[in-house]
Amino acid sequence: MIWSRLGIRKRLLLTGLCCLCIGVTAPSQATAFSKAERDRFQHAIVDYRPRLNPGYKKTKRKQTRYIIVHTAELGRDTTLRVISRGKRFRDGRFTYGGHAHYVIARNGRTYRIMDKKWIADHAGTSMWDGRTDLSRMSIGIELVGYHYAPITDKQYRSIGLLIDILQDVYNLDDRAVLTHSQVAYGRPNRWHKRDHRGRKRCAKNFERTKARLGPTWPYDPDARAGRLVADAQLAKIFYAPRAVADAVEESNVISKRNTAWLIAGEDFDSIATVYQFPDGRMFSGDQITKQVGWNRIPPKTIVLLNHTGSLSELIDEGPVKAIIDGITAWSVAGKSYNHRNTIYFLPSGRIKNGAVISDWDDLPVSTRLLIGYKGPFPVSKDRSAYSIAGARYKDPQTIYYLPSRQLLRGNKIKDFSRLQAGTLVFLPVAL
Ligand SMILES: [Zn+2]
Repeated sequence: MIWSRLGIRKRLLLTGLCCLCIGVTAPSQATAFSKAERDRFQHAIVDYRPRLNPGYKKTKRKQTRYIIVHTAELGRDTTLRVISRGKRFRDGRFTYGGHAHYVIARNGRTYRIMDKKWIADHAGTSMWDGRTDLSRMSIGIELVGYHYAPITDKQYRSIGLLIDILQDVYNLDDRAVLTHSQVAYGRPNRWHKRDHRGRKRCAKNFERTKARLGPTWPYDPDARAGRLVADAQLAKIFYAPRAVADAVEESNVISKRNTAWLIAGEDFDSIATVYQFPDGRMFSGDQITKQVGWNRIPPKTIVLLNHTGSLSELIDEGPVKAIIDGITAWSVAGKSYNHRNTIYFLPSGRIKNGAVISDWDDLPVSTRLLIGYKGPFPVSKDRSAYSIAGARYKDPQTIYYLPSRQLLRGNKIKDFSRLQAGTLVFLPVAL
């Protein structure tokens, strides 16, 4: 058995002043899930331990005080690879993996990355209540997805069950469950003169009640004690008297309110962060200082985190976007991923519109997509490109899907009289 089994709940120490009640189950601290639900969940955990990078040095954790929730800022396949095998950067730097104990996919499937007794390298520079280096004293759980994308109900159910079980094992109360964005802190940088919160935005969208957890701390103990400077946005999310969920901009698009720092945290100037300007130019975070300047990033720039492939893969081919390693339908389409005017061209040749897509993480690599389009309008003997698209038939925004599965812009087609029957035309909705 991987888990130690305990018959009764041990959330009794949570008040910190009630040691006399040990051995008595307080009704308000009842198990959030039934034993049957927990057993079923535990048996369904996928054992991913054999895939852990053999270079990862396993060290036994001496104490377990916290459970830290992360969002991976990636889709499932890349998350599993990065968390178990490690990160590789274009400049040759790499890590040895072991970046969490568990990964939870969008469909709720849960993967065990390493045995929970080892230290996972997940929290980085971190502090809570005066304690530092929290990886040494915590369990790390990664949710597949983004801090600016909704977490699925199935993920909430799985993480709720997992936390419930872990709380029993380590005798932890609900306040021991924190997000990475709550505990990470950064050294002084161009945005902050002192040590500060805000280094990570990870899991700032985690809604505790959906995981059947009670409230978090009413304040940030390190900010209150003056050890760290608070981050205004995170403080509002976690410690404001009333929840102000809608005050947060849920997007990876730069605007006056949504700065590079608010989207990327400490990775703002990382080689693995890519800024896609609206004019098509692209820069990695480490190029912005010299080549652009941080105050000159134009609004509507898209920020892509954790991109370790080459920049040329991301070159914007106009309206046709592609899902590649590390780039998901959510990174390119955001909330529009399941809109009927988002059209997906699967590598199998199937065409689907967003309304039939169950999740943005279910689309295979090499899927291409159009956002804000209608169609298909098939070209036939009786219906020419001109009769479909009118004067815009040669327009670069008019897209042709050839029977060879090629997607071409109208200005790239040399001879319209030779378009084969079966060619499909897609038109921008706005026109
Ligand atoms: Zn994190």
